Amino acid sequence: MSTIAQNIETIVAKMPQDVRLVAVSKFHPVERLREAYDAGQRLFGENRVQELVAKAPQLPPDVEWHFIGHLQRNKVRQLLPHVTMIHSVHSVELLRLIDKEAARIGRTVDVLIELHVAQEMTKSGFAPDEALRDITPQLLDELSHVRVRGVMTMATFTSDMEQVAREFALAQNTFVQMRDQLQFPAFDQLSMGMSEDWPLAVKHGATMVRIGTDIFGPREY
Ligand SMILES: *Cc1c(COP(=O)(O)O)cnc(C)c1O
Repeated sequence: MSTIAQNIETIVAKMPQDVRLVAVSKFHPVERLREAYDAGQRLFGENRVQELVAKAPQLPPDVEWHFIGHLQRNKVRQLLPHVTMIHSVHSVELLRLIDKEAARIGRTVDVLIELHVAQEMTKSGFAPDEALRDITPQLLDELSHVRVRGVMTMATFTSDMEQVAREFALAQNTFVQMRDQLQFPAFDQLSMGMSEDWPLAVKHGATMVRIGTDIFGPREY
């Protein structure tokens, strides 16, 4: 069994069955993704449009690609045909643009609202109060080709697990409040947790975890 297959097996064994594993394959060559594919992994996450678009045709068509990086407006058109979900919607303007482009090519795409709960200013996304104010039932009604499926977040990069736990709790709380406010049945996804903190994210209700290093090893930038 390959190391990658073993890594996936180890993670999946520790994870509740209803949590989905996004294999974050950024910076790794397609041969390594194929090892993960051969081990049964079908869901991959990438954070750069160019890289995702280049890799997608090199893997079998039953792979599901999720975009998890910062998305620029001028890359939406290029990205859309290749992804089933965009985790990182950081503004209403971007949400509307994705809807327009999806309508243009006659597709519906799932998206998550990116929440900013970390202390780092470099991370993007809606503050919890902004998300509650801006993502309204009326807005969802206006979107014909985008389904807002939930929220995504990243905790602060720190070894202080109490801080990470507080941030995950805030994200979970915001997710629940948004769900109550939106009353949209498909709003059911909470994407949080990476190699260092995913068990804590699962404790706070994550339905999807995004794991790179623990599957593929360290990245060479
Ligand atoms: C790279 C990345 C991950 C995975 O990080 P690891 O620490 O390698 O597991 C998860 N989420 C996002 C948004 C990323 O950019």
